[in-house]
Amino acid sequence: MRDNGSFWFASLDDSEDIASPEWPEQVDVAIIGGGYTGLWTAYYLQKARPELSIAVFEAEHFGFGASGRNGGWCMGTSHDVEHLLQQPDRQPIGVRLAREMQSTVDEIGRVSASLGIDCHFHKGGNLTVATRSFQLRQFEDEVRHLHKLGFDEADFRLLTPSESCDRVGMTDNFGALYTSHCAVIHPARLAQGLARSVKNAGVNCQPNTRVLGYQSGQVATDRGVVRAGRILRATEGFTETIKGCERQVLPIYSMMISTEPLPNSVWARIGLAGRETFADPRRVVIYGQRTADDRIAFGGRGGYYYGSDIKPIIDSDHPNLDAISETLRSLFPVLRDYKVTHRWGGPLGVHRHWRPTVEFDADTGLGSAGGYVGEGVAASNLAARILTDLVLGEQTPLTDLPWVNDVSRRWEAEPIRFFGTKAVEFLAERGDASEWQRNQPSKVWGRLFDVLTR
Ligand SMILES: Cc1cc2nc3c(=O)[nH]c(=O)nc-3n(C[C@H](O)[C@H](O)[C@H](O)COP(=O)(O)OP(=O)(O)OC[C@H]3O[C@@H](n4cnc5c(N)ncnc54)[C@H](O)[C@@H]3O)c2cc1C
Repeated sequence: MRDNGSFWFASLDDSEDIASPEWPEQVDVAIIGGGYTGLWTAYYLQKARPELSIAVFEAEHFGFGASGRNGGWCMGTSHDVEHLLQQPDRQPIGVRLAREMQSTVDEIGRVSASLGIDCHFHKGGNLTVATRSFQLRQFEDEVRHLHKLGFDEADFRLLTPSESCDRVGMTDNFGALYTSHCAVIHPARLAQGLARSVKNAGVNCQPNTRVLGYQSGQVATDRGVVRAGRILRATEGFTETIKGCERQVLPIYSMMISTEPLPNSVWARIGLAGRETFADPRRVVIYGQRTADDRIAFGGRGGYYYGSDIKPIIDSDHPNLDAISETLRSLFPVLRDYKVTHRWGGPLGVHRHWRPTVEFDADTGLGSAGGYVGEGVAASNLAARILTDLVLGEQTPLTDLPWVNDVSRRWEAEPIRFFGTKAVEFLAERGDASEWQRNQPSKVWGRLFDVLTR
């Protein structure tokens, strides 16, 4: 099994290859990609129609991609929710999507427990900490807006500076926005546990099988051709590598580190007693969690490579990882005395319209799901349930959610794509720096960034 470099894979108790013995010549449903999207889709389809023959083709091992190396934030929201809630005519559908995402966190906890997957699921909520005082005023407006839309204190609430400092001892802490709708997980345990469960339930699982291309009725792999009635692509940040799928999904990198297990004396200063996930509102996103074995796993955005180059594994000496370590230590200076033991990264997927999509065409039998913009741990479960309903031809409350057949146009050709993404990175950095220095919203850089990313 090729190591994806993450702490999560290094800390698995059991990392044997999960593989079905027989090669599937012909199946009802072929799924390309063995991350959460592919595996959850296999799970729900198999559960709804046990008579279907289903195969999952994974180029490496199950959970090798983003699903086995992410920050473990199982978030009760998705990238497009906030934008929908800001548009008066889209608010009702935005609230429905938000509620579906919130209940998806519980669905993941419930189903993983029912399958006996010990993925360290713990629903401690999420803290977004104001590191500048003006951000607290923004949070006040946000909470007021959310409460007007029908959410309440049990969903979102403001924490005063002292309440927030009690929860998390970050250097700059002017209060926080707290939501209960977030859980932490051990990502690789979930991915591998799901693969094992679907295989035991009769799904044909083929690791080390790279799909080279596909068309209605057949999938070409590096181990032979498979005939399939329906073909579902679930390759998110890796999509660029499949013939015919170029420029559909932009691979953006996220980078992560984890510390050694930290002693109680350090946790007494850092807090996170409820294992809340934590971040601040900067645009160059950061995210952290306290792991079940008392480390901090922490990450941040890591950029884009020319030509949508896919780097399946990030070198542990990548310079962006030094910046991530430095950021973590600036949030919690006590960590300067403690070691970072693991450093990794990987691609996640972004559509040109910056929204997740679930597509299925009943005539061709072709479908796909993904484009979660770095927020796919829970969203992939909802996407898989939607995809299942679409494949089965069922009209359900999920099949009129905004992601359904919301197909994005392709990304621009190079070098426009490269310069466009570098411009967005530049705006994010300038916007963050300006807000940090001036303690007020960035009206130029920040606004331009917002316009370009939604
Ligand atoms: C470092 C990092 C941190 C993140 N942190 C968070 C977080 O904390 N919370 C959150 O909500 N989201 C997070 N994300 C995003 C989230 O992990 C992803 O959106 C989600 O896991 C996507 O799942 P997926 O199954 O669609 O794709 P993936 O998990 O990427 O799976 C795609 C699979 O397809 C396989 N594949 C690729 N090409 C082929 C081929 N040709 N043939 C067969 N198989 C192929 C790959 O090997 C891979 O295993 C993070 C992502 C990264 C990279």
